[in-house]
Amino acid sequence: MSDSLRLIRFTPRAGVPRTVHLVPPPARTGQPVTIGDYVRVLTALCGQQFAPGEAEMLSHASEDLCRRCAAAAAQPPSTGEQ
Ligand SMILES: [Zn+2]
Repeated sequence: MSDSLRLIRFTPRAGVPRTVHLVPPPARTGQPVTIGDYVRVLTALCGQQFAPGEAEMLSHASEDLCRRCAAAAAQPPSTGEQ
């Protein structure tokens, strides 16, 4: 798994799962993203989106890592051939 992926989860809110998602760095997505400010929507590997102000970044993985993100991170970038 690449350590350049950011660990992102929703900020504490009632009814929202505390699952940790993996978000590619801006260099990979081409999106100008300011971590800590979140001027743009972040999209995790599994497709989960985080609007500005909804996400917080973690410095280490937790036990609640999103399984779809983990599976996506374990594979090389899609080239249409596995
Ligand atoms: Zn995910």
